[in-house]
Amino acid sequence: MTTVAAYAAPAAKAPLERTTIERREVGEFDVLIDIKFAGICHSDIHQAREGWGEAIFPMVPGHEIAGVVAEVGSGVTKFKVGDRVGVGCLVDSCRECENCQAGLEQYCLKGVTGTYNALDKNGEPTYGGYSQKIVVDENYTVRIPDGLSLDVAAPLLCAGITTYSPLRHWNAGPGKKVAIVGLGGLGHMGVKIAHAMGAEVTVLSQSLRKQEDGLKLGADHYHATSDPKTFEELRGTFDLIVSTVSAPLDFGAFLSLLKTDGALVNVGAPEEPISLNLFSVIGGRKTLAGSGIGGIGETQEMLDFCARHGIGAEIELISASEINEAYERVLSSDVRYRFVIDTATI
Ligand code: NAP
Ligand code: ZN
Ligand code: ZN
Repeated sequence: MTTVAAYAAPAAKAPLERTTIERREVGEFDVLIDIKFAGICHSDIHQAREGWGEAIFPMVPGHEIAGVVAEVGSGVTKFKVGDRVGVGCLVDSCRECENCQAGLEQYCLKGVTGTYNALDKNGEPTYGGYSQKIVVDENYTVRIPDGLSLDVAAPLLCAGITTYSPLRHWNAGPGKKVAIVGLGGLGHMGVKIAHAMGAEVTVLSQSLRKQEDGLKLGADHYHATSDPKTFEELRGTFDLIVSTVSAPLDFGAFLSLLKTDGALVNVGAPEEPISLNLFSVIGGRKTLAGSGIGGIGETQEMLDFCARHGIGAEIELISASEINEAYERVLSSDVRYRFVIDTATI
Protein backbone atom coordinates (compact mmCIF):
# COMPACT_ATOMS: atom_id res chain seq x y z
CA MET A 1 0.00 0.00 0.00
CA THR A 2 1.09 3.57 -0.66
CA THR A 3 -0.07 6.51 1.42
CA VAL A 4 -1.27 9.36 -0.78
CA ALA A 5 -2.40 12.92 -0.02
CA ALA A 6 -6.02 13.59 -0.94
CA TYR A 7 -9.00 15.89 -0.39
CA ALA A 8 -12.03 14.14 1.03
CA ALA A 9 -15.52 14.81 2.32
CA PRO A 10 -15.54 13.11 5.75
CA ALA A 11 -19.36 12.90 5.76
CA ALA A 12 -22.33 13.93 3.61
CA LYS A 13 -22.56 17.72 3.11
CA ALA A 14 -19.38 18.28 5.19
CA PRO A 15 -16.71 20.50 3.64
CA LEU A 16 -13.86 18.69 1.93
CA GLU A 17 -10.55 18.66 3.80
CA ARG A 18 -7.01 17.41 3.34
CA THR A 19 -6.38 13.82 4.38
CA THR A 20 -4.42 10.75 3.32
CA ILE A 21 -5.64 7.55 1.70
CA GLU A 22 -4.05 4.19 0.88
CA ARG A 23 -3.61 3.10 -2.72
CA ARG A 24 -3.23 -0.59 -3.54
CA GLU A 25 0.09 -2.09 -4.66
CA VAL A 26 0.62 -1.94 -8.42
CA GLY A 27 -0.74 -5.27 -9.69
CA GLU A 28 0.29 -7.16 -12.82
CA PHE A 29 -2.02 -5.19 -15.14
CA ASP A 30 -2.05 -1.91 -13.20
CA VAL A 31 -0.54 1.48 -13.88
CA LEU A 32 0.38 3.91 -11.12
CA ILE A 33 -0.50 7.42 -12.23
CA ASP A 34 0.91 10.64 -10.83
CA ILE A 35 -2.24 12.76 -11.00
CA LYS A 36 -1.51 16.28 -12.23
CA PHE A 37 -5.01 17.69 -12.67
CA ALA A 38 -8.54 16.72 -11.62
CA GLY A 39 -11.70 18.39 -12.88
CA ILE A 40 -14.68 19.16 -10.65
CA CYS A 41 -17.85 17.65 -12.12
CA HIS A 42 -21.30 18.53 -10.80
CA SER A 43 -21.66 14.78 -10.15
CA ASP A 44 -18.95 15.15 -7.47
CA ILE A 45 -21.21 17.59 -5.66
CA HIS A 46 -24.37 15.50 -6.05
CA GLN A 47 -22.52 12.56 -4.48
CA ALA A 48 -20.58 14.38 -1.76
CA ARG A 49 -23.92 15.78 -0.58
CA GLU A 50 -25.76 12.45 -0.96
CA GLY A 51 -28.14 14.04 -3.44
CA TRP A 52 -28.38 10.75 -5.33
CA GLY A 53 -28.81 8.64 -2.21
CA GLU A 54 -26.60 7.00 0.34
CA ALA A 55 -22.88 7.31 -0.37
CA ILE A 56 -19.57 5.97 0.97
CA PHE A 57 -17.50 8.21 3.28
CA PRO A 58 -14.87 9.44 3.56
CA MET A 59 -15.30 10.32 -0.14
CA VAL A 60 -12.47 11.46 -2.40
CA PRO A 61 -14.37 12.68 -5.46
CA GLY A 62 -12.90 13.25 -8.91
CA HIS A 63 -13.41 11.34 -12.16
CA GLU A 64 -11.77 13.72 -14.57
CA ILE A 65 -8.18 12.66 -14.03
CA ALA A 66 -5.13 13.60 -16.11
CA GLY A 67 -1.61 12.58 -15.18
CA VAL A 68 1.58 10.74 -16.04
CA VAL A 69 2.38 7.04 -15.66
CA ALA A 70 4.90 6.56 -12.84
CA GLU A 71 5.06 2.76 -12.69
CA VAL A 72 3.60 -0.18 -14.58
CA GLY A 73 2.86 -3.79 -13.56
CA SER A 74 4.76 -6.66 -15.18
CA GLY A 75 1.88 -7.57 -17.50
CA VAL A 76 1.09 -4.06 -18.76
CA THR A 77 1.44 -3.71 -22.54
CA LYS A 78 -0.45 -0.52 -23.37
CA PHE A 79 1.49 2.05 -21.33
CA LYS A 80 5.01 2.81 -20.16
CA VAL A 81 6.47 5.11 -17.54
CA GLY A 82 6.17 8.76 -18.66
CA ASP A 83 3.03 8.30 -20.79
CA ARG A 84 0.33 10.98 -20.46
CA VAL A 85 -2.90 9.30 -19.45
CA GLY A 86 -6.43 9.89 -18.26
CA VAL A 87 -9.00 8.12 -16.12
CA GLY A 88 -12.71 8.86 -16.24
CA CYS A 89 -15.77 7.69 -14.32
CA LEU A 90 -15.12 3.95 -14.21
CA VAL A 91 -12.10 1.89 -13.18
CA ASP A 92 -13.48 -1.60 -13.75
CA SER A 93 -16.44 -3.61 -15.08
CA CYS A 94 -17.19 -7.33 -15.52
CA ARG A 95 -15.46 -7.46 -18.97
CA GLU A 96 -17.68 -10.39 -20.02
CA CYS A 97 -21.28 -9.23 -20.44
CA GLU A 98 -22.60 -8.26 -23.84
CA ASN A 99 -22.19 -4.56 -23.11
CA CYS A 100 -18.59 -4.90 -21.93
CA GLN A 101 -17.86 -7.00 -25.01
CA ALA A 102 -19.41 -4.29 -27.20
CA GLY A 103 -17.27 -1.51 -25.72
CA LEU A 104 -20.18 -0.18 -23.68
CA GLU A 105 -18.47 -0.80 -20.34
CA GLN A 106 -20.39 2.13 -18.83
CA TYR A 107 -23.55 0.02 -19.16
CA CYS A 108 -21.98 -3.18 -17.79
CA LEU A 109 -24.86 -5.51 -16.92
CA LYS A 110 -23.17 -6.52 -13.68
CA GLY A 111 -22.49 -2.91 -12.70
CA VAL A 112 -19.36 -0.82 -13.20
CA THR A 113 -16.85 0.04 -10.50
CA GLY A 114 -17.01 3.81 -10.19
CA THR A 115 -13.76 5.73 -9.83
CA TYR A 116 -14.98 6.81 -6.39
CA ASN A 117 -17.96 6.22 -4.10
CA ALA A 118 -17.89 2.53 -5.07
CA LEU A 119 -16.48 -0.77 -3.86
CA ASP A 120 -13.95 -2.61 -6.02
CA LYS A 121 -13.91 -6.37 -6.67
CA ASN A 122 -12.21 -6.93 -3.32
CA GLY A 123 -14.82 -4.89 -1.47
CA GLU A 124 -12.42 -1.97 -0.92
CA PRO A 125 -13.77 1.57 -1.37
CA THR A 126 -12.54 3.42 -4.46
CA TYR A 127 -11.14 6.93 -4.16
CA GLY A 128 -11.07 9.46 -7.00
CA GLY A 129 -8.92 12.12 -8.53
CA TYR A 130 -8.72 14.77 -5.81
CA SER A 131 -5.48 13.06 -4.81
CA GLN A 132 -1.88 12.83 -5.95
CA LYS A 133 -1.71 9.24 -7.19
CA ILE A 134 -4.07 6.51 -8.34
CA VAL A 135 -3.61 2.86 -9.32
CA VAL A 136 -5.81 1.76 -12.23
CA ASP A 137 -6.02 -1.32 -14.48
CA GLU A 138 -4.52 -0.48 -17.87
CA ASN A 139 -7.76 -1.47 -19.60
CA TYR A 140 -9.58 1.41 -17.86
CA THR A 141 -6.84 3.96 -18.60
CA VAL A 142 -6.77 6.07 -21.76
CA ARG A 143 -4.00 7.92 -23.56
CA ILE A 144 -4.01 11.73 -23.71
CA PRO A 145 -2.76 12.74 -27.15
CA ASP A 146 0.34 14.98 -27.34
CA GLY A 147 -1.56 17.95 -28.72
CA LEU A 148 -3.66 18.35 -25.56
CA SER A 149 -2.33 19.96 -22.36
CA LEU A 150 -3.15 17.87 -19.32
CA ASP A 151 -5.03 20.66 -17.51
CA VAL A 152 -7.54 21.30 -20.30
CA ALA A 153 -7.71 17.58 -21.12
CA ALA A 154 -8.81 16.52 -17.61
CA PRO A 155 -12.48 17.63 -18.04
CA LEU A 156 -12.73 15.68 -21.28
CA LEU A 157 -12.68 12.46 -19.23
CA CYS A 158 -16.24 13.13 -18.08
CA ALA A 159 -17.67 16.35 -19.54
CA GLY A 160 -16.11 15.59 -22.94
CA ILE A 161 -17.17 11.97 -23.29
CA THR A 162 -20.65 12.53 -21.80
CA THR A 163 -21.48 15.00 -24.55
CA TYR A 164 -19.45 13.35 -27.36
CA SER A 165 -21.20 9.99 -26.94
CA PRO A 166 -24.82 11.14 -27.53
CA LEU A 167 -23.77 13.62 -30.22
CA ARG A 168 -22.11 10.72 -32.09
CA HIS A 169 -24.91 8.25 -31.40
CA TRP A 170 -27.64 10.63 -32.60
CA ASN A 171 -25.55 11.69 -35.62
CA ALA A 172 -24.79 15.35 -34.94
CA GLY A 173 -23.10 16.66 -38.08
CA PRO A 174 -23.53 18.80 -41.19
CA GLY A 175 -27.15 19.66 -41.90
CA LYS A 176 -28.25 18.89 -38.34
CA LYS A 177 -29.64 21.49 -35.95
CA VAL A 178 -28.44 20.69 -32.45
CA ALA A 179 -29.32 22.50 -29.23
CA ILE A 180 -27.33 22.24 -26.03
CA VAL A 181 -29.27 23.09 -22.86
CA GLY A 182 -27.17 24.55 -20.02
CA LEU A 183 -23.78 26.18 -20.59
CA GLY A 184 -21.79 24.68 -17.73
CA GLY A 185 -19.05 22.06 -17.68
CA LEU A 186 -20.81 19.53 -19.89
CA GLY A 187 -22.67 22.13 -21.94
CA HIS A 188 -19.61 24.06 -23.05
CA MET A 189 -17.94 20.83 -24.18
CA GLY A 190 -21.14 19.88 -26.00
CA VAL A 191 -21.04 23.17 -27.90
CA LYS A 192 -17.40 22.75 -28.91
CA ILE A 193 -17.80 19.12 -29.95
CA ALA A 194 -21.10 19.56 -31.84
CA HIS A 195 -19.57 22.53 -33.68
CA ALA A 196 -16.46 20.47 -34.57
CA MET A 197 -18.76 17.70 -35.86
CA GLY A 198 -20.23 20.24 -38.28
CA ALA A 199 -23.69 20.72 -36.75
CA GLU A 200 -25.53 24.05 -36.51
CA VAL A 201 -25.41 24.68 -32.78
CA THR A 202 -27.79 26.61 -30.52
CA VAL A 203 -27.26 27.22 -26.81
CA LEU A 204 -30.35 27.29 -24.62
CA SER A 205 -29.23 28.90 -21.37
CA GLN A 206 -31.24 30.36 -18.51
CA SER A 207 -30.17 33.88 -19.46
CA LEU A 208 -28.10 35.74 -22.05
CA ARG A 209 -25.34 36.34 -19.45
CA LYS A 210 -22.88 34.00 -21.20
CA GLN A 211 -23.97 34.69 -24.78
CA GLU A 212 -20.64 36.13 -25.93
CA ASP A 213 -18.77 33.11 -24.57
CA GLY A 214 -21.22 30.67 -26.14
CA LEU A 215 -20.75 32.19 -29.59
CA LYS A 216 -16.96 32.11 -29.16
CA LEU A 217 -17.12 28.44 -28.16
CA GLY A 218 -18.73 27.67 -31.51
CA ALA A 219 -22.47 28.21 -31.11
CA ASP A 220 -24.32 29.73 -34.06
CA HIS A 221 -27.29 30.91 -31.98
CA TYR A 222 -27.97 31.63 -28.32
CA HIS A 223 -31.32 31.96 -26.57
CA ALA A 224 -32.52 32.52 -23.01
CA THR A 225 -34.97 29.93 -21.71
CA SER A 226 -36.26 32.45 -19.16
CA ASP A 227 -37.80 34.33 -22.10
CA PRO A 228 -41.11 32.66 -23.10
CA LYS A 229 -40.64 34.00 -26.66
CA THR A 230 -37.73 31.54 -27.07
CA PHE A 231 -40.18 28.64 -26.95
CA GLU A 232 -42.52 30.27 -29.48
CA GLU A 233 -39.75 31.22 -31.91
CA LEU A 234 -37.92 27.90 -31.83
CA ARG A 235 -40.91 25.53 -31.89
CA GLY A 236 -40.16 22.53 -34.17
CA THR A 237 -36.58 23.61 -34.91
CA PHE A 238 -34.12 20.95 -33.74
CA ASP A 239 -33.08 17.48 -34.85
CA LEU A 240 -31.35 16.87 -31.54
CA ILE A 241 -31.39 18.53 -28.13
CA VAL A 242 -28.90 17.49 -25.44
CA SER A 243 -29.82 18.64 -21.95
CA THR A 244 -26.94 18.96 -19.50
CA VAL A 245 -29.00 20.63 -16.78
CA SER A 246 -28.33 19.50 -13.21
CA ALA A 247 -31.81 20.43 -11.93
CA PRO A 248 -35.33 19.22 -12.89
CA LEU A 249 -36.47 20.80 -16.14
CA ASP A 250 -39.77 21.20 -17.97
CA PHE A 251 -38.98 18.54 -20.58
CA GLY A 252 -42.37 19.04 -22.23
CA ALA A 253 -41.38 22.57 -23.19
CA PHE A 254 -38.06 21.41 -24.65
CA LEU A 255 -39.69 18.53 -26.55
CA SER A 256 -41.85 21.13 -28.33
CA LEU A 257 -38.66 22.53 -29.85
CA LEU A 258 -37.93 19.28 -31.73
CA LYS A 259 -38.75 18.55 -35.34
CA THR A 260 -40.83 15.46 -36.13
CA ASP A 261 -38.67 12.42 -35.29
CA GLY A 262 -36.27 14.59 -33.29
CA ALA A 263 -34.61 13.41 -30.10
CA LEU A 264 -34.15 15.05 -26.72
CA VAL A 265 -31.29 13.33 -24.96
CA ASN A 266 -30.90 14.01 -21.27
CA VAL A 267 -27.48 13.68 -19.66
CA GLY A 268 -28.19 15.85 -16.62
CA ALA A 269 -28.69 13.90 -13.39
CA PRO A 270 -30.99 15.97 -11.15
CA GLU A 271 -31.66 14.80 -7.63
CA GLU A 272 -35.45 14.90 -7.97
CA PRO A 273 -37.76 13.09 -10.44
CA ILE A 274 -39.68 14.99 -13.09
CA SER A 275 -43.21 14.59 -14.36
CA LEU A 276 -44.03 14.70 -18.04
CA ASN A 277 -47.20 14.86 -20.11
CA LEU A 278 -46.62 12.04 -22.61
CA PHE A 279 -48.51 13.85 -25.35
CA SER A 280 -45.29 15.81 -25.78
CA VAL A 281 -43.65 12.74 -27.35
CA ILE A 282 -46.69 11.30 -29.12
CA GLY A 283 -47.22 14.29 -31.42
CA GLY A 284 -44.27 14.29 -33.83
CA ARG A 285 -43.00 10.78 -32.96
CA LYS A 286 -40.36 12.25 -30.71
CA THR A 287 -37.72 10.46 -28.69
CA LEU A 288 -36.85 11.26 -25.10
CA ALA A 289 -33.65 9.42 -24.26
CA GLY A 290 -30.79 9.38 -21.80
CA SER A 291 -27.09 8.74 -22.12
CA GLY A 292 -24.34 7.97 -19.62
CA ILE A 293 -20.65 8.87 -20.09
CA GLY A 294 -19.10 6.54 -22.71
CA GLY A 295 -17.12 3.33 -23.08
CA ILE A 296 -13.34 3.13 -22.77
CA GLY A 297 -12.77 2.80 -26.53
CA GLU A 298 -15.15 5.67 -27.23
CA THR A 299 -13.39 7.81 -24.62
CA GLN A 300 -10.12 7.27 -26.49
CA GLU A 301 -11.89 8.11 -29.77
CA MET A 302 -13.21 11.32 -28.18
CA LEU A 303 -9.74 12.34 -26.93
CA ASP A 304 -8.27 11.74 -30.40
CA PHE A 305 -11.14 13.73 -31.95
CA CYS A 306 -10.55 16.62 -29.53
CA ALA A 307 -6.80 16.60 -30.21
CA ARG A 308 -7.44 16.65 -33.98
CA HIS A 309 -9.80 19.60 -33.61
CA GLY A 310 -7.72 21.44 -31.00
CA ILE A 311 -10.48 21.14 -28.40
CA GLY A 312 -9.78 21.35 -24.67
CA ALA A 313 -12.01 22.56 -21.85
CA GLU A 314 -12.20 26.21 -20.77
CA ILE A 315 -10.89 25.95 -17.25
CA GLU A 316 -10.37 27.88 -14.06
CA LEU A 317 -7.35 26.30 -12.37
CA ILE A 318 -7.70 26.24 -8.59
CA SER A 319 -5.71 25.02 -5.62
CA ALA A 320 -7.12 22.26 -3.42
CA SER A 321 -7.99 24.72 -0.65
CA GLU A 322 -10.49 26.37 -3.03
CA ILE A 323 -12.55 23.21 -3.68
CA ASN A 324 -15.37 24.05 -1.26
CA GLU A 325 -15.75 27.55 -2.68
CA ALA A 326 -15.71 26.10 -6.21
CA TYR A 327 -18.58 23.75 -5.24
CA GLU A 328 -20.68 26.74 -4.18
CA ARG A 329 -19.92 28.51 -7.45
CA VAL A 330 -20.91 25.44 -9.49
CA LEU A 331 -24.18 25.25 -7.55
CA SER A 332 -24.98 28.85 -8.44
CA SER A 333 -24.17 28.30 -12.17
CA ASP A 334 -21.10 30.52 -11.74
CA VAL A 335 -18.56 28.33 -13.51
CA ARG A 336 -16.63 29.26 -16.65
CA TYR A 337 -16.57 26.51 -17.55
CA ARG A 338 -14.83 23.86 -15.48
CA PHE A 339 -12.91 24.10 -12.23
CA VAL A 340 -9.73 22.04 -12.39
CA ILE A 341 -7.65 21.26 -9.30
CA ASP A 342 -3.88 21.52 -9.53
CA THR A 343 -3.16 18.40 -7.49
CA ALA A 344 0.33 19.62 -6.59
CA THR A 345 -1.47 21.91 -4.10
CA ILE A 346 -3.00 19.01 -2.17
P1 NAP B 1 -22.67 22.46 -14.31
O1 NAP B 1 -21.30 22.84 -14.73
O2 NAP B 1 -23.20 22.94 -13.01
O3 NAP B 1 -23.66 22.85 -15.50
C1 NAP B 1 -25.05 22.71 -15.42
C2 NAP B 1 -25.69 23.89 -16.12
O4 NAP B 1 -27.10 23.69 -16.09
C3 NAP B 1 -25.48 25.22 -15.44
O5 NAP B 1 -24.29 25.84 -15.79
C4 NAP B 1 -26.68 26.01 -15.92
O6 NAP B 1 -26.42 26.50 -17.24
C5 NAP B 1 -27.76 24.94 -16.05
N1 NAP B 1 -28.65 24.96 -14.87
C6 NAP B 1 -28.31 24.80 -13.57
N2 NAP B 1 -29.38 24.86 -12.77
C7 NAP B 1 -30.43 25.07 -13.59
C8 NAP B 1 -31.83 25.22 -13.37
N3 NAP B 1 -32.37 25.18 -12.13
N4 NAP B 1 -32.62 25.42 -14.45
C9 NAP B 1 -32.11 25.46 -15.69
N5 NAP B 1 -30.79 25.33 -15.95
C10 NAP B 1 -29.97 25.13 -14.92
O7 NAP B 1 -22.79 20.86 -14.21
P2 NAP B 1 -22.08 19.73 -15.11
O8 NAP B 1 -20.85 19.29 -14.41
O9 NAP B 1 -22.03 20.20 -16.51
O10 NAP B 1 -23.12 18.54 -14.95
C11 NAP B 1 -24.46 18.72 -15.37
C12 NAP B 1 -25.33 17.56 -14.95
O11 NAP B 1 -24.93 16.40 -15.66
C13 NAP B 1 -25.19 17.19 -13.48
O12 NAP B 1 -26.45 16.80 -12.99
C14 NAP B 1 -24.25 16.00 -13.49
O13 NAP B 1 -24.38 15.16 -12.39
C15 NAP B 1 -24.71 15.32 -14.76
N6 NAP B 1 -23.73 14.42 -15.38
C16 NAP B 1 -24.24 13.32 -16.03
C17 NAP B 1 -23.36 12.48 -16.68
C18 NAP B 1 -23.90 11.32 -17.45
O14 NAP B 1 -23.15 10.38 -17.70
N7 NAP B 1 -25.15 11.36 -17.88
C19 NAP B 1 -21.99 12.72 -16.66
C20 NAP B 1 -21.54 13.86 -16.01
C21 NAP B 1 -22.41 14.71 -15.37
P3 NAP B 1 -26.94 27.97 -17.71
O15 NAP B 1 -26.39 28.92 -16.69
O16 NAP B 1 -26.35 28.11 -19.04
O17 NAP B 1 -28.42 27.91 -17.72
ZN1 ZN C 1 -18.69 13.69 -14.19
ZN1 ZN D 1 -19.96 -6.16 -18.03
